[in-house]
Formats: sequence, C-alpha cells, structure tokens
Amino acid sequence: MRVYGDPVLKQVANEVDQVDGALAKLVDDMVETMYGAVGAGLAAPQVGVQKRLFVYDVGEGPDVVINPTIVETSGEWYHDEGCLSIPDLRLGIVRPKQVHLRGYDVDGEEVEIEADEFLARVFLHEIDHLDGVLMVERLDDDQRKVAQRVLRDRALGFDTSALEAKLVAAGSDQEV
Ligand code: ZN
Repeated sequence: MRVYGDPVLKQVANEVDQVDGALAKLVDDMVETMYGAVGAGLAAPQVGVQKRLFVYDVGEGPDVVINPTIVETSGEWYHDEGCLSIPDLRLGIVRPKQVHLRGYDVDGEEVEIEADEFLARVFLHEIDHLDGVLMVERLDDDQRKVAQRVLRDRALGFDTSALEAKLVAAGSDQEV
C-alpha cells in the first residue's frame, strides 16, 4: 500500500486502453489488497499502478470501475472519511451526496451507476485518487492545516488526539 508522502499518490493516472487478462489479474490483486486492509474501496495508484480504475465493496460484493467519469453530481453531505493511504486519520469532508458514474467493467462493457451517500463518497474519493488528489486536499484551508499538523506531529511521535478531534464529523470507520 502506497501511503501519504509517496509521490505516486500525487500523479494523474492514465486511461486504461486495453481490458485484457493482465488487467483482470490486477483487479483481482486489488480486491485482495482492499480486503486485506479492510477497506471499502481501493484505487490503482494506491498500489503503485498509474491506471484509471478502482475496486470497491460496500457490502454487496467486490466490483470494479475502469476509466470512470462523473456524469453528474447533486446534493451535499458532510461525513467522516478515511483513506487506506493515510491510515488512522478520520476527516469530516463535504462532498456531493449523489453521483452518476459512467465507466467500464472488467469485460470492457460500459456501465452506468447511480450512487448515493456512502457509495457516492467512495466513488468520489477513488476518482480523486486517479487525479492525484488526497482527501486532505478536500478540507478547507484551516482544517487542512490542522490535518497536516496531525500528520507531521505523528511522524515526530507526538500525541495528536486533541487535534484529531477537531477534524471528525459524525463517525464512519471505513477506509477507502
Ligand atoms: Zn483513499
């Protein structure tokens, strides 16, 4: 798992131009990694692969979206979010509440998905990974400074629990 500070997480991933056996194998490996880390979603750059795809499972079995594009978003939802690449950090983040996504499945067939609340959040979080954007960057300026201080202080071995308490919203313990 690539973690915060790894430059690969800051890069824009490339479109997948071939859906073949190698890609299916990558998808299988990513699902395994996601389950191993007990996450609800995982984007290819998180395992060091600069390709536009992500896997997810919000309780209905694993699935993949290749070359996802956001057709439309609506609403707004403030909720806690976690990231497998920034372990043990919860951030209350505002995102759209619904998203209409288009992409391809592992057979190369076009798929369209309407997602709401947590699944919508997973999709938006994973697409951010494909664009080199981490959840910390979705905070407002003040909150981002607090989050960056938490990460810096942690690296120095300081207790950051008081600062972390300023960053959470309602409570979700799933990482994506
Ligand atoms: Zn993440």
